Amino acid sequence: MKKRILALFMAAILALPATGCTMKINENIVEEAKGTQSSIKDSFNAAKKDHQETQGQQETDAGQSDAEKEEVRYQDDYYEFVNQNLLSKIELAATDAHWDWFGELSAVVSSEMDEIIEELANDGKTYEKGSSEQKIKDMYECVTDMENRNETGLGPLKPHMDSIRNASNIEEYVDALAQLSGEFGFSSIVGGYSIMQDKADSSEYAVYMMYADTLIGKEYIEGENTQEYVSLYLDYINDMLMEFGMSADEAAQSTDSIEELLRDICASTLTTEQMYDPALTYNVYTEQELQNLYTNIDIPKMLKTLRVDGQDKYIVMDVEQAKKINSLLVEENLQALKDYSTFVMLNDTAKYANAAYAKLSDDMKNALYGITESWGDEKTWKDLTQDLLPWDFGMIYVEEHFSAEDKESVEEMIELILKEYETIINRQEWMSEATKKKAIRKLETMQVKIGYPDKWPAARDMMQVTPISEGGSLLSNLLVSMQVAIDDSLNKLGTKVDRSEWDVTPQTINAMYDPLNNEIIFPAAILQAPFYDSDNSYGANLGGIGFVIAHEVSHAFDSSGALYDEYGNYNVWWTDEELAEYQKMSQSIVDYYSNYEMMGIPVNGELTLMENIADLGAMTCITSIIGDDAGALDEAFGQMTYNWASVDTASFMTYLLNTDTHSPNKIRVNAVLSSCDAFYQIYNIKETDGMYVAPEDRVGIWK
Ligand SMILES: [Zn+2]
Repeated sequence: MKKRILALFMAAILALPATGCTMKINENIVEEAKGTQSSIKDSFNAAKKDHQETQGQQETDAGQSDAEKEEVRYQDDYYEFVNQNLLSKIELAATDAHWDWFGELSAVVSSEMDEIIEELANDGKTYEKGSSEQKIKDMYECVTDMENRNETGLGPLKPHMDSIRNASNIEEYVDALAQLSGEFGFSSIVGGYSIMQDKADSSEYAVYMMYADTLIGKEYIEGENTQEYVSLYLDYINDMLMEFGMSADEAAQSTDSIEELLRDICASTLTTEQMYDPALTYNVYTEQELQNLYTNIDIPKMLKTLRVDGQDKYIVMDVEQAKKINSLLVEENLQALKDYSTFVMLNDTAKYANAAYAKLSDDMKNALYGITESWGDEKTWKDLTQDLLPWDFGMIYVEEHFSAEDKESVEEMIELILKEYETIINRQEWMSEATKKKAIRKLETMQVKIGYPDKWPAARDMMQVTPISEGGSLLSNLLVSMQVAIDDSLNKLGTKVDRSEWDVTPQTINAMYDPLNNEIIFPAAILQAPFYDSDNSYGANLGGIGFVIAHEVSHAFDSSGALYDEYGNYNVWWTDEELAEYQKMSQSIVDYYSNYEMMGIPVNGELTLMENIADLGAMTCITSIIGDDAGALDEAFGQMTYNWASVDTASFMTYLLNTDTHSPNKIRVNAVLSSCDAFYQIYNIKETDGMYVAPEDRVGIWK
């Protein structure tokens, strides 16, 4: 599970992944999206016309109560104005935390996959062993057989749990963690590792010593507006430990000591935005240096258990955190450390475990996101089945849903956008000719992945499902999938990176830029309305999929991406003066976004910097392509705004503001448009309007 999250973490994604929050399925809304361009234009024009009429009336009806005339003007709040019709139709169900197009389309994809599961579960047939059909059937049976799940308990993890619980000193405790990490990839305090592309030479793999698991995360632990959620989380820890068998007193005491450790570790942990900075996270250590860092661990022994001994280098992701953890690995903390790792293991497996753990975990997630009603077993089971066999469902998805024609149109648009960035880079006065050449080289060599992989990942074939009739269980099959991920990555260590591999499934509604491959990725599922629609106008598709593409390309030059060269290597190719100028512009962007707020909570300009740079760059690119065609600009602005419509519970918005590297959708739209000169030209925005920002205060790296 963690491997996949890590792979995504390395890439800059377009939007919050839909996993983890539940979505409402609303077929009508999706149908409407297919006719987005005409409907948006009509509603937009109608709204503009209404507005002018109302304004006229207001002038003559001065003195009349204006309570019912409190309508939104596009000059004051473009996002609200464009989306008011759509948003008035979206009502979050009790099972939902969030609505946006990404989630909506994911829910549709997911319900199609659910139908496939349903058919296979009931067709009474047997398929060839190892076929996707048989794997789905067998997995679904394991997921839904609660009796089997309750009987399995911790299953093959039980001996590992016992080793942690029975450790009588730090050495035994670290050994137990290393065994668990080496065999299944679970990690808590120390011993977590990942084999990923080497940032200094992205054609090779390297071993990364990963962060400790900080549970609800540094941002929540230290946030001013998040302490109520932290106490909910502490209650959850307490409940899980009691379910595990501790008495109320023991659980309360353990929860206190876990909290103390957690706050201590978080104080020495990088912030989310710092985790994207290779200057902070790419720290090369030899085995001996690693031993000097972790004086309280037998490093050669641990690396051997992890099966990654004998490497020339190990990359430590967070040196300060590592130092802190080393200092905590002393006998007086032994019980607290054991409790911490016990909880992490229970938490990591809760979704797959017996009914009681699964419910506690589900309730916690719901409380965190502001969801008041659970999806219910059946949907949860089908989602789990899909999560456990992502590539098998991916193959089924592309068979049914991929058009070569759409791929071609999108390829053409990518070419247009890459060309435009070249023009934009060439007109930058603050960049030297030599640096411009390097930037353009990065565009020319950018790899493009659209749709689905030519060759399906080896992990798909390696992942086999053992049915209940042959002794399998949900947990044992989950563990197999984790072992497959480890074996797959160990097989890769020492080989050349195959850059044609995909980390993202085709049914994912998202898009990515991966700096280590200098590549943009558009899974098959994003190539649909409202993001892309072959019936849409040129302007609307530029504001739709065009904006998405331009956003991803722009990540090649965001505050993190700019530090990698055309080969995907961490290699600063800017002069000191250019870098200083870049940082000055970045600071203005941080300040600019920090002035925006949602629910009275200011946007974290630092956390969202990379994504804001990408949004601002994308808008420069799109408007630069369109030029002064007011009609096409109007359509592009409208479509982009429509695509970013969203509704959130207050708790989910708090979650986003604290952890998401993207600004909230409304701000993604309004802040970008308020910094876009073309927006002022076509709508005649005045100083007194809400959207107005003085020309000297407008921000962006690319002008
Ligand atoms: Zn992005």
